[in-house]
Amino acid sequence: MSKIGFIGLGIMGGPMAANLVQAGHEVTGFNRSPAAVDELVAAGGTAAASIAEAVSGAEVIFTMLPDSPDVESVVFGEDGVLAVAERGALLIDCSTIRPDASRRIAEAAAERGLRSLDAPVSGGEPKAIDGTLSIMVGGEADAFAAAEEALGAVGATIVHVGPAGAGQTVKAANQLIVAGNIGLLAEALVFLEAHGVDAEAGLNVLGGGLAGSNVLSAKGEKMRNREFEPGFRLELHHKDMGIVQAAAREAGLTIPLGTLVAQLVAASVAQGDGALDHSGLLKQITHLNGHD
Ligand code: NAD
Repeated sequence: MSKIGFIGLGIMGGPMAANLVQAGHEVTGFNRSPAAVDELVAAGGTAAASIAEAVSGAEVIFTMLPDSPDVESVVFGEDGVLAVAERGALLIDCSTIRPDASRRIAEAAAERGLRSLDAPVSGGEPKAIDGTLSIMVGGEADAFAAAEEALGAVGATIVHVGPAGAGQTVKAANQLIVAGNIGLLAEALVFLEAHGVDAEAGLNVLGGGLAGSNVLSAKGEKMRNREFEPGFRLELHHKDMGIVQAAAREAGLTIPLGTLVAQLVAASVAQGDGALDHSGLLKQITHLNGHD
């Protein structure tokens, strides 16, 4: 069992840290807003009052933060992860950030004698709570081997997809697929309702055929009931569509459907819906059709 420092105890990080405690690890957590740290303590973890306190003496360091600048400041900052972590420690960043930012972190970590992985996750809050996330891991094979036990406490599908940054590239593809799925599910729902068809029955039968998807199972019922409590906030998906578009441009690719859905997500955020769950994209599709 490892001594683990965990930074970023939000919707995803909180339950992930609790699952690491449950698996027998010694987890010391830090979060910018202290209420989340209290929850980790209630789950059997230890409170840290700073990044340095969480990282000091840790064999494994997890970060689960909103965006690239957050991770960069926690890793590169004065008294940040690289300044404080002991040589040989393993840094596992589970945040969804830009692949180039992950590659820079990996290079700097190696220069400091640390091992590091980008290990973004998919499955949302329910799978974070169950410890059954899908985890797409980029980095060196020896770091992946060293991380398997800790990652096994938070995930069920854990795949080494390539070198540093590759985990983030796969996660970007994940976000492209999920956003497109939600957009089409929203259109199908508005379509069924406009025709006066029983939307509950409709979604049930669609879920059993080729139109079925994890998005439909996880979000269909909530969308039908207009329950948009996050979950995964639209503003975070907006960030991720920015990552997808930049990475597509870097590879000289055009992603027409992804670009359209990115614009719809951007409009939702601009209209003040960024704090809603990403299934709140349904509101945008509804407005575009002149409905309430
Ligand atoms: P969140 O906003 O709920 O959690 C982030 C936490 O980090 C917050 O508690 C915040 O206080 C803390 N934080 C921010 N900056 C900090 C700093 N400098 N030092 C210490 N703590 C800091 O976000 P989330 O939904 O848990 O998402 C985290 C990451 O996981 C994001 O990159 C997101 O895209 C990704 N993700 C989220 C989901 C989901 O369903 N929510 C699913 C997969 C991936």
